[in-house]
Amino acid sequence: MSVATETVRESDHEHCGCCGRQLPAREVVELGNTPGVFICGGCAIWAARRIGPTAALRQLRFTPLGRLLRRLTRRKDR
Ligand SMILES: [Zn+2]
Repeated sequence: MSVATETVRESDHEHCGCCGRQLPAREVVELGNTPGVFICGGCAIWAARRIGPTAALRQLRFTPLGRLLRRLTRRKDR
């Protein structure tokens, strides 16, 4: 008699690809372009701080608030 081979996950924990901790799946997020690689909230905050506020402000320009700010601060040529 043969037994079907099946991969069974032993837990719902994932491994943070940054700090290496094993955390519940609800506490990590999978990287967008690298399936199977996760990052925890603490490392995400660390990375955001490390890249600096300038990068965060650059991302803001793609939001409705950023469009509004551009429109309000746009210089009018005379
Ligand atoms: Zn981490």
